[in-house]
Amino acid sequence: MQVDTLIVGGGIAGLWLLAELRSQGVNALLVSDELGKGQTIASQGIIHGGTKYALTGKLTGATLAIGDMPRLWRAALNGESAVDLSRVNILTESQLLWTSGGIGSRMTGFFASKAMKSRMDAVPRDAYPELFRHAEFHGGLYRLDEPVLDVPSLLATLREQLDDALLQVDVQRSGLQPVGDVYRYQAVLPDGSELAIDAGQIILTAGAGNEALLASTSLSQREFPGMQRRPLQMVLVRGDLPMIYAHALGMSDKPRATITSHRDAEGQTVWYIGGQPAEQGVGKPAAEVIAATQRELADLLPWMDVSGMKWGTWAVDRAEGGQPDGSRPDQPVFYHHANVTVAWPTKLAFAPMLSARLQSALSMAKSGAKPVASGLPSPPVATSIWNV
Ligand SMILES: Cc1cc2nc3c(=O)[nH]c(=O)nc-3n(C[C@H](O)[C@H](O)[C@H](O)COP(=O)(O)OP(=O)(O)OC[C@H]3O[C@@H](n4cnc5c(N)ncnc54)[C@H](O)[C@@H]3O)c2cc1C
Repeated sequence: MQVDTLIVGGGIAGLWLLAELRSQGVNALLVSDELGKGQTIASQGIIHGGTKYALTGKLTGATLAIGDMPRLWRAALNGESAVDLSRVNILTESQLLWTSGGIGSRMTGFFASKAMKSRMDAVPRDAYPELFRHAEFHGGLYRLDEPVLDVPSLLATLREQLDDALLQVDVQRSGLQPVGDVYRYQAVLPDGSELAIDAGQIILTAGAGNEALLASTSLSQREFPGMQRRPLQMVLVRGDLPMIYAHALGMSDKPRATITSHRDAEGQTVWYIGGQPAEQGVGKPAAEVIAATQRELADLLPWMDVSGMKWGTWAVDRAEGGQPDGSRPDQPVFYHHANVTVAWPTKLAFAPMLSARLQSALSMAKSGAKPVASGLPSPPVATSIWNV
């Protein structure tokens, strides 16, 4: 098979790029196992505008880079861009941020900062969600310009639109092979049949899977400096809970907890909790992480009764372009050699920026040829974390 561009990996990075390339007449094909498996399906779906990175009161590179992402996503959600997300379920238009009582001195700069004032509005008391209408709540509540999306519906929408350019492969047995100065993708389909795919550009957006794809080639550290993993152990609480989407701030410049709410297949609410509990829980037994999160919630929301809830955890690695000190990259990262590019978006929210940068950096043929995967097996959307 011959295509203009082959994308390897069907998370948000690959799917967003595929949608844009297709709209421009690039004959692009995406190969993957399950769509979003790994990080995208495990993400909280927050389209960050950078507030979380500005908690010190300083505008860092990360805050500036991500600031425009909610606007780009909103255009797609309104059906006004090449990536049509008008059928995606938006969980909330704006994420909340709450402080619990007195805030630390490090936070004062954040609330005083002019740049932040334009990004968040104080919620008037009479507009508080039920959860915060309690005599014991003495903190402040703010609304951020950050929508939260239902990620399974995001993946399903993209799958529906792009189905004829999606090909399911056995990722363990498929990989890159050198052919002269360039690379070919040797695919093994689920039924064991083989397909050699030649492409002007091969773009690896396989998340953590990029590491194994690169390792199977002779491409060295010099050409591709490598990947880093930053693990998390997320916490899930299931039961009769209010639907909230909020960062809880404490004395530090990192959220004490970031809570998003989802419905499982039985219609029960699941709180999916990231932030410090997930960062500090890495490598610990689930019971210990759950107990620490229960203490944290009891401190943050003491009036809430969480008895009778079902608790669980989900361990997952964030996969990113390697940084010398292992810290989070400020922006998407990609490296190019021969006809191979390897890319990590760093955040779900950054998918539009990664796609735009890849298109301006790489010369891609636009043969306008028809999609080639119709009739071949198509990758399903990965199972939601709250239904596992
Ligand atoms: C717990 C958690 C919460 C997060 N929350 C947010 C958030 O709220 N907002 C935000 O902006 N970011 C968030 N992120 C970050 C965000 O999820 C990631 O940056 C983004 O999803 C990465 O997308 P990706 O397409 O690069 O990789 P992935 O989503 O990991 O997708 C990789 C794809 O490649 C496929 N694949 C793997 N190996 C191969 C192979 N060898 N061949 C072919 N295909 C392969 C996989 O099946 C999958 O389809 C979160 C991350 C985590 C872990």
